[in-house]
This record gives sequence, C-alpha cells and structure tokens, in this order.
Amino acid sequence: MSDFTLDSHTPKGSLETRWTQHKFDLKIVSPANRKKYNVIVVGTGLAGAAAAASLGEMGYNVKTFCFQDSPRRAHSIAAQGGINAAKNYQNDGDSVWRLFYDTIKGGDYRARESNVYRLAELSTSIIDQAVAQGVPFAREYSGYLANRSFGGAQVSRTFYARGQTGQQLLIGAYQAMSKQIDEGTITHHSRCEMQDLIKINGKAKGIVSRDLVTGKLESHMADVVVLCTGGYGNVFYLSTNAKGCNASAAWRAHKQGALFANPSFTQIHPTCIPQAGELQSKLTLMSESLRNDGRIWAPRNKEDCDKKPEDIAEDDRDYFLERMYPAFGNLVPRDIASRAVKLICDEGRGVGHDIDGKKLGVYLDFANAIKVHGLDAISEKYGNLFDMYSHIAAEDPYTTPMRIYPAVHYTMGGLWVDYNLMTSIDGLFAGGEANFSDHGANRLGASALMQGLADGYFVLPTTVSNYLAQQKPLDLSKTYPEEEQALQACKDKIHQLMNAPKPQNTPDHFHRKLGQIIWNACGMAREKSVLEAAITDIKNLREQFWQQVKITGSDETLNQTLERAGRIADFFELAELMCIDALTREESCGCHAREEHITDDGEAQRHDDDFSYVAAWQYSGNLSVPVLYKEELDFEFVRPTTRNYR
Ligand SMILES: Cc1cc2nc3c(=O)[nH]c(=O)nc-3n(C[C@H](O)[C@H](O)[C@H](O)COP(=O)(O)OP(=O)(O)OC[C@H]3O[C@@H](n4cnc5c(N)ncnc54)[C@H](O)[C@@H]3O)c2cc1C
Repeated sequence: MSDFTLDSHTPKGSLETRWTQHKFDLKIVSPANRKKYNVIVVGTGLAGAAAAASLGEMGYNVKTFCFQDSPRRAHSIAAQGGINAAKNYQNDGDSVWRLFYDTIKGGDYRARESNVYRLAELSTSIIDQAVAQGVPFAREYSGYLANRSFGGAQVSRTFYARGQTGQQLLIGAYQAMSKQIDEGTITHHSRCEMQDLIKINGKAKGIVSRDLVTGKLESHMADVVVLCTGGYGNVFYLSTNAKGCNASAAWRAHKQGALFANPSFTQIHPTCIPQAGELQSKLTLMSESLRNDGRIWAPRNKEDCDKKPEDIAEDDRDYFLERMYPAFGNLVPRDIASRAVKLICDEGRGVGHDIDGKKLGVYLDFANAIKVHGLDAISEKYGNLFDMYSHIAAEDPYTTPMRIYPAVHYTMGGLWVDYNLMTSIDGLFAGGEANFSDHGANRLGASALMQGLADGYFVLPTTVSNYLAQQKPLDLSKTYPEEEQALQACKDKIHQLMNAPKPQNTPDHFHRKLGQIIWNACGMAREKSVLEAAITDIKNLREQFWQQVKITGSDETLNQTLERAGRIADFFELAELMCIDALTREESCGCHAREEHITDDGEAQRHDDDFSYVAAWQYSGNLSVPVLYKEELDFEFVRPTTRNYR
C-alpha cells in the first residue's frame, strides 16, 4: 500500500463564507466541453439520483447503476420522518448557526466544523429545490410549509410529507433524473451491481458491473466515479434497513485503497418495533416524529411487566426519559434515548416478547396526545405509521401503547472523504450515507436526507466539475489492460463463492450468526474483552463461510443467493474492522458507548485530548492489521463540552 497523507482540504477563513469562497476558487468546465467527460454514479437513492440529475443537467455524460428494479426502489424510499432545514419558518429562534451547532453537538464533537456548517447552510436550498420539483411537503392551513421537531433540537425545523418524506423526495430526484435520461445525458442500468472499482495509474477510472438478471460481467470506463451506495447497517443482519442494503461497493473500493472512516459509528434508533422471534430477518422503524406526541414509559415495578399496559396505574408508570432528561424529555438524541431504553430493559423492566430470556420493549403511548389534540389530529399526522404498526404488531396503537426497542438504523461511518467529498483514491467520490461525512458519532434525526441531498444536488456537482476540469478525458474507444484484470478478478471471486469445498449452509445462516456476534460486541454497548473475543469469532466464522457456503443455481442467471453471498463476504471483513475501530477508541462518544468509559450518571465519557479525531483506516493487505490514519478535529467555532440534555 502506498503512503498517503490525510488532508481534508478544508478551506480557511470565516466559517460563513468558506463554501462560497471555495466554490469560487474551484475550477469549472466550460459548457461546451462537458460532453467530453464521462461520469459514473453508482447508486441512485437520494444522494446518487440528485448527483446524477445535476451532473446530467450540467451536460456531462452520466452512467448510473442500481441493484433494484428501479431507482424508485432505493432504500431512501423508507425514510418516514422528515428532512431538516434551517428556514426558521416557526420563528422559534432557528438559524444556520443553530442547526450547525445542534449537529456538531449531536455528533458529540466528532465531525468536521466546515462540512457541518456547509450542510446547515445548504439545508435551506434543498427545501427550495424540492418544492420547485413539486415535492408535496405538509403545509399549514395558511399554505406555509409545516414543521415538526426531531430529537436533539429545541426548535421545529423538520419538513415532512406525512410519513413518506423519503419517498416523496425520491420521486422528485427520480423525476429530475428521468428528464436527463430522456434528454440523453444519463444512461441508467437497473438490476446491475458494481463488483469492483477499476483504477488506472492510481486513479478511479471505471467499474465492473454484474447484470443481476443475466449474470453478465462488464466493465464501464469514465473520468470519475461517484459512489452513493448507502449505508452498511445490515452487517448486523437485523436492522431497519431494506434487506438489500450492503457495504460491497464501498468495501471493495476500500480494498483498492479508499480509507474507511469511523466504521464502528453505528446509529441505533430507539423507536423500532421490537423483535418478536429468533428467526426474524428484518426490523421496522417507527418514525422518530412519533416522539413529538408519544410519551415513552416502562412499568416502575418489575412485577407489572406482564400486565396489560392499561392495567398499570399512572403512578406505577416510569416516564423515564422525562425523568432523566427534563430539558429534552422524549426528544433527546437517539443514542441517549436508546441507551436509556436498554438500561430499563437490562433492569428487568422491559415489556413484550421474551428474546434470549429478556423482555426487550418499552411503551410509546399516545393516550395523552389523543386526549389533548383529538384522534383525528393524531391520525392526520401519523395515520400511516399507526396502520403499519398495527399490521406488524397486531395491536391497535390508538387504544393501546406501541411497544418499541432500539435497532440498528444508520451508519455514520463510511468512506473517508475530504471537503470536496473525494475519497483517498484520486477521482473516486462518495456521497450520502456511503461517506463518513457530517454526523460525527451520532446523527440527528432528519439529517440524513438533508446530507444526501446537499451532497447530491449541491456539493458533488461543484467538486466533481473541479476535478474534471483538471483531467484529460479518457479515450473510451480503447480497451485498457486494467479492465481485463478487474473482470478476471471478479470472475474468480464468483467462482470461489459458487464452489465452496464443503457446501452445507446458506449465506443467511452465516449472516444471522455474524449479526449476533457484532450486535453483542459492537452494538449499544462495547467492552474490550467482548470486542477481542468477537474479532476471533468473526475470523473463525469467516473461514467457515468460505468453506461451507452453499449457493444453489448458476451464476449465469438471476441468483439472489449468490448476490447475498457476495455481500455477506464483504460484511465479514467490515465487521472485523468495526470491532478493531471500537477497540481502538478508548472513550465513549455519541453512539460509541465503551463500558469502561461511562460517567457515574451513565453518560458517554469522551477523552478529547486523545480521541478528538476521525479514525480513517487503510487496508494493508491483511484484514487484521489495518493502518490507522488520524484526522485531528479542530474546533475553532464551537467549544466541545459534555453533552447535556438534562
Ligand atoms: C426505516 C428508515 C427510515 C429513515 N427515515 C429517515 C428520515 O425520516 N429522515 C432522514 O433524514 N433519514 C432517514 N433515514 C436515513 C435515510 O433514509 C438514509 O440515510 C438515506 O436515504 C440514504 O440515502 P442514500 O442515497 O445515501 O442511499 P440509498 O437510498 O440506500 O441508496 C443506495 C443506492 O445504491 C445502490 N447500490 C448499493 N450498492 C450497489 C452496488 N454494489 N451496485 C450498484 N448499486 C448499488 C442501491 O441500488 C441504491 O440505488 C431512515 C433510514 C431508515 C432505515
């Protein structure tokens, strides 16, 4: 591996003018020359569709890829709650500075100030862009756009479209992308999965793709490659992510030299429908917006845990978030709410199904909200979420409290990128959840859509253009030896997966076991000895996987078992890096709760002197010995303090 100097290329000067000045300083490609450049965008969720549409509109030749049947099926469609923007429509004291401050603090001072300020600044333009596209955000009777509150904020800045914000925003981005497909600037490939990155002289110049219907492997060359391939929460097997979400594109880029940052920073969302059985394969999120009106409680006494909630007297209910965090109450950030729920269930005060001998659930109760606002108002706000809950849990949340428990939801870690969103591989960019970006050690609710769209509509079009302005267009009429080598390597890997020496277990069998290991070691609480044991267990299981994975069918046709096996093989490698990262970070911060570094009040204890850095890991050729690069974080504008939501 070549040596690499970690430089975030963060501009200097006043925070408010950094992005504006930077945009001016960047180079641009003249409109007449843009047709000469080819851009690959892998992933057409919110981040990728927004980037591709914008780059297409600018006049570049764009090729896009997604593994679903249509860009419309990206995981972004699942986002329910909303998207933040510092519009201050409520006149409740919001501003770009406040959103910036909330995001830095919410991330427990483990994010870059310049990026986060830019994100807050761009947030307002995202809403204008989406409204111009016709995204049907909820409105007040007066016609103004409505807002609600999300965790970690004391203002109302979340724009929403009932419980379908991601879907509506994705329709907007997909429409913009479709216009470019129609105009010929975008060529789109659905059901086509990136297998590997192609580099020429150290620069990203293409990808190998596999057509998931025919099994055909192909190379595609370009002047720049942008990965917007989403997050890796499914490494845990059980998560709220769509089943197809995976780390493969990012991981294979990592193995080609792209640094992977803060891999252990995983968000556990407090309000998910609890697991009902040990063979369950998917968890469901109940949007955080529900915490605006729902009150979270558990029985005060263990003896009441088996009673029906309506039979538990008001005095015997412990509204523990309101008790522990009076200032933010039920709207504390996700990491804090999740840990509090875990604490209550570990004390034996959980409710609902027994999983491994423990009741893993607490109540989210709307009785008071229905009394104050009326059933119609609550149904108007959350109707589709209530319907979803009753379909899955077979209980009516209008009459009995929902049960919730934390679940893996989002990954703050991802490919390391500089201020321009370029990875450590020249010409390889990453946007949306695929990069490690702006959320530090904990993401605030409704900020992922904001970041994906800021990256896609505003940052990448500018910074990718700057990169292209400095490149000579690649001659696509030629065939490059690197294409052949990459194709052969992909063929070999598929052959190895299809021909394990002692095939006996499905890929899912191994994935479920891996999920248990990583959830116990690198989930809501982490501890040195448990992490060390997990690393050994992961390696052993990984060896078994390559010996025993059984893939039926052929690799020359649709084969979802093969698709899953390829993704799980990468999860096995990523899982080890996650544990190494969690082990190395001898502090607690945000989502990363090391049992050895917790205050007497049970809160995360940061060690800023030693750990105020982004951990960016380089693949060394040996999965167990990655090289750590530290990007020191410099807080010029916000003084890191102990987060206090009490
Ligand atoms: C249930 C749920 C609800 C959420 N609600 C909210 C919310 O209310 N507000 C909020 O801000 N955030 C929310 N989030 C988070 C947010 O939805 C995601 O972070 C965001 O949508 C990610 O967008 P993306 O464009 O980065 O990735 P995705 O939408 O996941 O898109 C990834 C794309 O990459 C493609 N892809 C992946 N790998 C490959 C490959 N190897 N080859 C080809 N294509 C590939 C996929 O096909 C897809 O097109 C929620 C998350 C969940 C799980």
